[in-house]
Amino acid sequence: MSGTDQEYIVITNARENNLKNVSLRIPKRKITIFTGVSGSGKSSIVFDTIAAESTRLLNENFSTFVRTFLPSFPQPDTDGIENLSMAVVVDQKRLGGGSHSTMGTITDISPILRVLFSRVGQPHVGSANMFSFNDPQGMCPECNGIGRRLGVDMGKAIDKSKSLNEGAIMLPDYTVNGWEMNMLLQSGDFDPDKKLQDYSPEELDQLLYAKARKVQMDFAGKATNITVEGVIEKFTNKYIKQDVKLKSERTQKAVMPFITEGKCSSCHGSRLSQAALNCRINGMNIAELSSMEVGHLIRVIQEISDAKAAPIVKSLTERLQHLVDIGLDYLTLDRETDTLSGGESQRVKMVKHLSGSLVDVTYIFDEPSVGLHPRDVHRLNDLLVKLRDKGNTVIVVEHDPDVIKVADHIVDVGPHAGSRGGNIVFEGSFQGLLESGTLTGTHMKRPLELKQDCRKASGKLPIRHANLHNLRNVSVDIPTGVLNVVTGVAGSGKSSLINDVFLSQHPDAVVIDQSAVGVSTRSNPATYTGIMDDVRKAFASANKVNQGLFSFNSKGACENCQGLGVVYTDLSFFESVKMPCEVCEGKRFKEEVLGYKLNGKNIAEVLEMTVEQALEFFELKEVKKKLQAMSDVGLNYITLGQPLSTLSGGECQRIKLASELHKKGSIYVMDEPTTGLHMSDIGHLLEIMNRLVDTGNTVIVIEHNLEVISQADWIIDMGPDGGSRGGQIVFEGIPSQIILEEQSITGKFLK
Ligand code: ADP
Ligand code: ADP
Ligand code: ZN
Ligand code: ZN
Repeated sequence: MSGTDQEYIVITNARENNLKNVSLRIPKRKITIFTGVSGSGKSSIVFDTIAAESTRLLNENFSTFVRTFLPSFPQPDTDGIENLSMAVVVDQKRLGGGSHSTMGTITDISPILRVLFSRVGQPHVGSANMFSFNDPQGMCPECNGIGRRLGVDMGKAIDKSKSLNEGAIMLPDYTVNGWEMNMLLQSGDFDPDKKLQDYSPEELDQLLYAKARKVQMDFAGKATNITVEGVIEKFTNKYIKQDVKLKSERTQKAVMPFITEGKCSSCHGSRLSQAALNCRINGMNIAELSSMEVGHLIRVIQEISDAKAAPIVKSLTERLQHLVDIGLDYLTLDRETDTLSGGESQRVKMVKHLSGSLVDVTYIFDEPSVGLHPRDVHRLNDLLVKLRDKGNTVIVVEHDPDVIKVADHIVDVGPHAGSRGGNIVFEGSFQGLLESGTLTGTHMKRPLELKQDCRKASGKLPIRHANLHNLRNVSVDIPTGVLNVVTGVAGSGKSSLINDVFLSQHPDAVVIDQSAVGVSTRSNPATYTGIMDDVRKAFASANKVNQGLFSFNSKGACENCQGLGVVYTDLSFFESVKMPCEVCEGKRFKEEVLGYKLNGKNIAEVLEMTVEQALEFFELKEVKKKLQAMSDVGLNYITLGQPLSTLSGGECQRIKLASELHKKGSIYVMDEPTTGLHMSDIGHLLEIMNRLVDTGNTVIVIEHNLEVISQADWIIDMGPDGGSRGGQIVFEGIPSQIILEEQSITGKFLK
């Protein structure tokens, strides 16, 4: 092989999914960005071909002995891939891990902070483990390092202005004249007609918290021993110390309103033991540092002047700086990772790799700009450049022009989606792309226009005195009957205001987010949208057989794969691996079922149709309507039988949108619906939103995309910055006004 060829990852005739013999040279140790309309084949190249081959190669490194326990990873459908280094996929999957996984633990910053305290904290306490809430030595013994404890909501449980006979105890078991209340009164310890506020402290304590004791009572003339205990004590033992989720649904419903989750009263939520909390550096303990915003923490760390700490301070500063650089300065180290958004999760993972020492890795990012305000995109670009300059190959799937600009090499996939895509339509520089005449190039040149004829509100939905997370006593009216766009830099408080506060007051709203759809591995667009029911009926009546035959979980399904079309092999230390079913060859049905036809096609052939093909094939009104909805949200290229588990976050959101369009919900809430959408698809999305508004609905969209913002009827801009420097409304009004607003960062970028 020639010297220059080793400078490239060389792919020859890739054919995964819709790819049409794609041959490609990706420069190594450079940034290559893949763009193109949704469904054109970007993921098929980047994930299904490049990342898949890397996994397979990695597997080949195991000894033959180990490999006999592993499935053989299928080779991606190509004639060859050369010069591939180890690939690491940095995606938007949420970081799970439960309450013991925090920003600090996942970025490896907390362990370093612990070492710092064990070296220079005063008084000197001991090993670094003493400062870990995941270690028995360091955790608060009361809450086992969780920081929270369940308790009784006393305000709801007890009404002190009443007597027992008037119903002072509002807990479910204590109705006046009920069994529990009678037991309590029979004990003779309490005055049933005295208001609780007139009880002495001792009496009240006895009533509420007395430990269980046996009391002899008279039952129908017989002396009987009965257990009596304090009201709150009993409730705690019965419903809080035991898992209430194991009780009947009815009991849970009755009991849950009285249970609150609050900070652990022993460690005040810090999760740590008293010894750990007593140890301080410059007057601050480790819990205080962990609850500081990273942007503030980095300055506090730099003020530590003890010479023994110098190397640790340096290493902490470096890692914290990475978080600041990527625009996560508003997060705290004690933030639980499962509360981070998809975009935040991806950026946190990125930081982990920046601090690592691997070189010559192929890093693959999936739309890393998700959740980032245009103001912060340059920070992302800086990090991509840093990764490259460490000697890595960086491959990015991205739609944002401001990220595309940073590429050393751009690959535009298209020209359209699905079978009308699968080709490389442009390769080269940013300037070249602008002049290429491809959909991407053309859209990138188009100037932004601000909406002028904004709709007038038909009413308003008020939010009053919201104080959750960083929100600072926010009161705002959301106009109804218009397209609202909520904007602001990451961490300014958009999700807290809309997803948490607003939605808790409007549970009837239709929420269309990016979380995965489909609970079963058998779910696909046809089952999700209800098309499958109509299709089954049509097959049944055309062939005069039972419609159950055409269901994946019936006797008509292939017995080898149970109608999945693939066979899953579960491995304890790998993600499960799927292989096509050998019996039905992925067709999912028995031979006999495939003999039944509808207008010349069998059920497997129908499920292989794309939405676009199915629209031509079906004449049934019901089916057409549902297919049209999918087509309207830009999902023409998806096949009816494609497992929902293979859809991206953005595609999941659009399929939900398609099936929710006909709901009579009057409020629609969407969280960054442009995720995964090419510029040319955003027009479709806007049409759908406008149609929803035109039919009398209120649409509320959280969005960073400037084209969507420019087409809003009403903008609510949060800020001015992220975290503690945000949490306020900086602008409410129409697009042509926001560009005049000094305070608004969004306005500046629209201009
Ligand atoms: P992009 O990443 O550009 O949005 P993809 O590579 O995901 O596009 O998809 C290209 C085409 O391949 C689409 O028609 C898509 O529906 C199809 N496709 C992608 N993944 C699968 C899969 N696992 N099974 C079947 N079809 C798929
Ligand atoms: P945006 O949606 O504008 O990116 P968020 O509402 O997600 O902003 O965040 C606003 C602030 O609230 C940030 O400082 C963020 O770290 C904090 N925050 C958000 N969710 C949580 C949570 N579950 N727990 C603690 N803090 C949170
Ligand atoms: Zn505790
Ligand atoms: Zn099968």
